[in-house]
Amino acid sequence: MDFEFSEDINKARENARNFALSAITPELARKYDLEEKFPEEVWKKAMASRMVDFSNPWSMLVTIEELCRVDPGIGIAATVSLFGSEVLMLFASDQLKEKYLKPVQEGRAIMGLAVTEPGGGSDVAGLKTEAKLEGGKYIINGSKMFITNGQIADFFVMLLRTSRPDSKRHHGLSVLVVDGNLKGFSRNKLTGKLGVRATNTAELILNNVEVPSSNLVGEEGKGFYYIMTFFNISRAYVAAQSIGIAQGAMDHVLAYLKEMKDSGRESEITEDIQFTLSDIATRIEASRLLTYKAASYLFNFQPKPEITSMAKAYASETAVFACEKAMEITGESGLYGDLERFLRDSKIMEIWEGTSEIEKLVIARTFLKGGQM
Ligand SMILES: Cc1cc2nc3c(=O)[nH]c(=O)nc-3n(C[C@H](O)[C@H](O)[C@H](O)COP(=O)(O)OP(=O)(O)OC[C@H]3O[C@@H](n4cnc5c(N)ncnc54)[C@H](O)[C@@H]3O)c2cc1C
Repeated sequence: MDFEFSEDINKARENARNFALSAITPELARKYDLEEKFPEEVWKKAMASRMVDFSNPWSMLVTIEELCRVDPGIGIAATVSLFGSEVLMLFASDQLKEKYLKPVQEGRAIMGLAVTEPGGGSDVAGLKTEAKLEGGKYIINGSKMFITNGQIADFFVMLLRTSRPDSKRHHGLSVLVVDGNLKGFSRNKLTGKLGVRATNTAELILNNVEVPSSNLVGEEGKGFYYIMTFFNISRAYVAAQSIGIAQGAMDHVLAYLKEMKDSGRESEITEDIQFTLSDIATRIEASRLLTYKAASYLFNFQPKPEITSMAKAYASETAVFACEKAMEITGESGLYGDLERFLRDSKIMEIWEGTSEIEKLVIARTFLKGGQM
């Protein structure tokens, strides 16, 4: 067992850290949060620097950590333009990869992944938006909710109901690539969300939208399996976002304590504060170990969904814990400073890509079915 990353990955981390510190200034972070605007300039720079490359997943994992450490909203917005790309990488035809994946990889297009519907996101098998095959085209009717990049994406990888479920609810679902400019397709930007406000979120409405049958990803009826495979990967990246947020909160605490020291108030750094700092640091380290273990299985094509769910649930709860504790230690300066934004951003980590409850059900079910530690 080797706990050290290779030189290449350490270099990727260092590059991402330097990029984040120079491209994401505190002023910019505040501006995009306040204006709820997608940070196009930072995204373009990040894509041009070639550090956003999901075909190099370890490098991507540490890049996400370092960008979110400086600002979660912009950090996520700058790396999420390829959200859903693994579905195409793993299951789409060469033609679909060439047409859709290449432009997003080259920073010329933005994509989104649309699963959640107004009726709820956790119960994926219960989704209702229909795609009916008629004369070589799928006709789509329904809506999707809380979709990242919803208003700005060029196209979406969408999970849809193509036939009625048989005895198993998750049967009859398929994945289609749906262009955003089709007739009958409209989007409503959702504003006022709690955190990660630099990311774009929208509701998608599909009214008799016609998509060529060649835009089917993989086989009809296998969509649930494709999306669950994707979530298992994307949950590791959410764990990395969460670690970045927790580490960023700890950076704020350390800067605050250094200021206390420098101004002759070292005696005010009580044992209580030290215990809290120690708890934050320990949870970050534990989150990293779990996430890197999950990623190691995943990136070697031997996924262990229960470990990925442990990493996602634990790291996201650590992000919230670290931000809350950082706020307690720093008091007024935290409340009115950048930590306030970190705390709001952290909460979303416990929700998207499977809420903590859903992750815990995945873990429990594995062991109830006889899984071993
Ligand atoms: C900012 C943001 C961006 C998002 N981006 C995307 C995106 O790009 N694409 C996309 O498809 N979705 C996206 N989502 C949706 C996200 O994945 C869902 O919000 C999430 O899956 C939870 O679904 P829900 O909000 O509908 O809550 P629900 O599923 O309605 O759940 C509500 C509550 O009930 C609990 N619950 C539900 N079922 C169970 C159960 N069986 N047992 C125990 N507890 C349960 C949940 O844990 C939760 O606390 C985004 C969400 C947000 C907030």
